[in-house]
Order: sequence, then structure tokens, then C-alpha cells
Amino acid sequence: MQCPRDAVALIEERHEGIEVDHCPSCNGRWLDHHELDELEARAAPDENQRRATIVYARRESELACPVCGKLMWAFNYRAYDLELDTCEDEHGFWVDAGEEGRIRDVMEERVRGLNRAASAEQAWGEFLRGAGGRSMWDQIGGFFRGRRR
Ligand SMILES: [Zn+2]
Ligand SMILES: [Zn+2]
Repeated sequence: MQCPRDAVALIEERHEGIEVDHCPSCNGRWLDHHELDELEARAAPDENQRRATIVYARRESELACPVCGKLMWAFNYRAYDLELDTCEDEHGFWVDAGEEGRIRDVMEERVRGLNRAASAEQAWGEFLRGAGGRSMWDQIGGFFRGRRR
């Protein structure tokens, strides 16, 4: 793939499990569409809510998609004031140098949010199981099993 800004060949990189194609010349980065979409899906499981909030200030970009060569759309990503270019055929996202650190901040912030949600869920589950590690139903089941013996 070639950089949409300067046509230099992009170099594949991995950032914490996310595949990114990096331009060694302008330091821009290309993200596969599904990578960002997967993060979005986990952060906001309601598809309609997600689609409604992900994009605003959409306008025509001067950059062509490195996958299909079509002119891309520029847009702002959520409330983070992050400017991205994307292909309408969902080939990916272009992130200019300087924006890249911020998109990683956004992702890390969202992943931290997910971890918080997961640990809250775990704490709730532990609470429901009770301090003895047995649920009410285990205790009732044990009671009846005990009576039958
Ligand atoms: Zn470049
Ligand atoms: Zn495309």
C-alpha cells in the first residue's frame, strides 16, 4: 500500500494488537476499518447509537484511499476533535502524523473504560455469589440434597 499523502510505501506495524500501516516519510498511519470498528463495538454495543456518534463535521478529503484509490471523506471523531480520513467503502482510516498519538490516547482511554466495566461486573458477580462462594441456589440445592440422604 502507498501513503495517500506522498505515495511512499507503507510499513506494517503492530500497536498493542492493532495493525497499523505506517508511512516512514510523513509519519501518517493507515488503520484497517474493522480495527476501529471492533473497538467501537465493544465500547458501545448499540449499533445505532454508535453510528450516530462516531462521525461529525463530515466533508470531502483531498486524499485518495490507499486500497481502492477513491477520494476519501474527512471527518471528526467523536468529542475528541480528532481529524480522520476514511474511505466510504470502509477500507480504513488515515491518521496524519501528530493525530496518531491522540487516536492512541482515545483508544487507550476507551480500553481503560472497558476494563473498568469488566472489573465492576466481576465485583458484582462476586457479591451475588456471596462471601462463602456459594449462591443462594447452591445453598437451597444443598439443603434438599441433605434432606434426601
Ligand atoms: Zn506519507
Ligand atoms: Zn477504499
